[in-house]
Amino acid sequence: MESDTTATVHPSLLQLHFDTSVDGQYVLDPDADVFVKVNPSMCELLGYTREQLVEARRPVATSSIIHEDDRELVRKHREAAQMPGDSGVTRFRIVRPDGEVRHLEVRFTLIRYMGRIVQVGSARDVSEQVKLEIKLRNESEFNRELTLAAQQSAKEAQRKSLEVLEANTRVGALSEVLRAIPVLTKKLLELEDLNAVFKETALTMVNDAQFSSCAVLLKDDQGRLEVKYANPFRTTTTVHVKETPEIKRVLGGDEDLVVDDHGVHYAAIRGEGVMRGLLQVGLPKNLQRFYAGHKPIQQSIRDLVSTIADFLGVVITNYENLERIKQQSRMDKLTGLYNRRVFEEQLSTEFRRALRYDRDLSLMILDIDDFKQVNDTYLHQTGDAVLEELGTLLAGSFRDLDTVCRYGGEEICAILPETVGEAAKVKAEHVRRKVSELEIPTTMDENKKIKITVSIGVACLSKNTTSEEQLLREADRALYWVKKNGKNQVKLADG
Ligand code: GH3
Ligand code: MG
Ligand code: MG
Repeated sequence: MESDTTATVHPSLLQLHFDTSVDGQYVLDPDADVFVKVNPSMCELLGYTREQLVEARRPVATSSIIHEDDRELVRKHREAAQMPGDSGVTRFRIVRPDGEVRHLEVRFTLIRYMGRIVQVGSARDVSEQVKLEIKLRNESEFNRELTLAAQQSAKEAQRKSLEVLEANTRVGALSEVLRAIPVLTKKLLELEDLNAVFKETALTMVNDAQFSSCAVLLKDDQGRLEVKYANPFRTTTTVHVKETPEIKRVLGGDEDLVVDDHGVHYAAIRGEGVMRGLLQVGLPKNLQRFYAGHKPIQQSIRDLVSTIADFLGVVITNYENLERIKQQSRMDKLTGLYNRRVFEEQLSTEFRRALRYDRDLSLMILDIDDFKQVNDTYLHQTGDAVLEELGTLLAGSFRDLDTVCRYGGEEICAILPETVGEAAKVKAEHVRRKVSELEIPTTMDENKKIKITVSIGVACLSKNTTSEEQLLREADRALYWVKKNGKNQVKLADG
């Protein structure tokens, strides 16, 4: 039965419209899954002839033309429309016999026709539209992705540039530190005083290398730790330090360098392998945060602190070795007294000082009596032993102010500042007596002890003294007088 709206139109017009419509027109029996009518446009759309679709004994099943992925969708639409008058719009893909896939948009209405409920509909090829839509969707998706990717990479770039900036700043800060080191080490090598070395280290590490604190702590004779110099919290003091667990770990030799929770570095100072103390260097809080998590930079700072500590160890050792050599070059090995070079230097210094400030100065020359005989009788080694004993006795017989030197073979001089001739003579007499009391074992027989005597000439500064050589000559002349007059005596030059 045809609807009322179509009833007023002449059936031949409807047929004409059906046959000539550019849209596919069809009547479909959903239950039988076959077309009842198709117009040429519908045939063209589906790629099948009317023969194949309608007139054949076994017409093509409509569902078989539908793309298999869309069959379920179409089935649901068909199910949803059951009653005459029900209508729907649906889009799905069909597969033509040549394999081409087309997108159809189908509008249909259910009508009762010859006792059956059939679908009357028109179908339009919307492939181009769908393609366009897909393209647009993809493009917008692409754009969105593009935007997201762009944002992401912008963020990444920003993060990276920040990182680079921070790294640069860190490296910059580190290079500031590093720059200070060659300057420091060069300075340290030029300094002659160890305390100046410690001071310069502490000052440079804080003022130039930007550390927050720096202290040099060394062990004293009793093994206690003393602050030799600390910047900025202490000046040149030697304060005993309470040993913290970190300090103990370093001093114990377990680790060369320890960093505590506050970023304070403790590095061992070793001199020729012997633990001498430690270098304590504080990292400022801002740098501590700045370097947090940056292992290579932290390691660089550790290396740097260790390097300075090692360098201090070398400087300390060099300094001590140099001091020892300097000292040795001033001493006479056999007697343990100063040597002739020191005598000459010291006599010159004391002479000028006494002259300038009008002070007293006395000089003593002591010579062992008949020493040749000692050598001849008891061998040279015994002679050496005598000189050694005499040196020990003399070293303990004078004031710190005095300088006692081995002038020649068995001649010993003593410079006595702030001493008048009479007082020097008394002193000489005391020494002469002490020497005469010595009992020295011979090297051949320990039980055989020998005694020696000395002659001493004394001279003192007077108004007539014009040079140190003159003073020396007067003392020597007094000694010569004693030698001529029985030895084992003291003679004060007339002056
Ligand atoms: P006098 O009482 O006149 O001073 O007699 P002397 O024998 O002490 O004087 P002389 O100057 O003739 O001899 C000094 C001797 O001292 C000569 C030398 O063998 C000895 N002598 C000098 N230096 C050393 C030394 O380092 N060791 C030893 N064992 N003997 C030395
Ligand atoms: Mg002699
Ligand atoms: Mg002599």
